Amino acid sequence: MSNLIDCPECDGDGTVEREVWVRQSATWHGDFGSEVQDCDNCNGKGQIEPLEEDE
Ligand SMILES: [Zn+2]
Repeated sequence: MSNLIDCPECDGDGTVEREVWVRQSATWHGDFGSEVQDCDNCNGKGQIEPLEEDE
């Protein structure tokens, strides 16, 4: 009954790319970088249970 759907936050990947402030870099003043993290919405699974109120 509970069909899982692709997570809309990560498109089913289970990971999301976020911009983060990187302090540890070759230069002391830091820089922005992108970091791949587990998706919060699906806990890295890539799929979630659809909300019952959708249908
Ligand atoms: Zn997700």
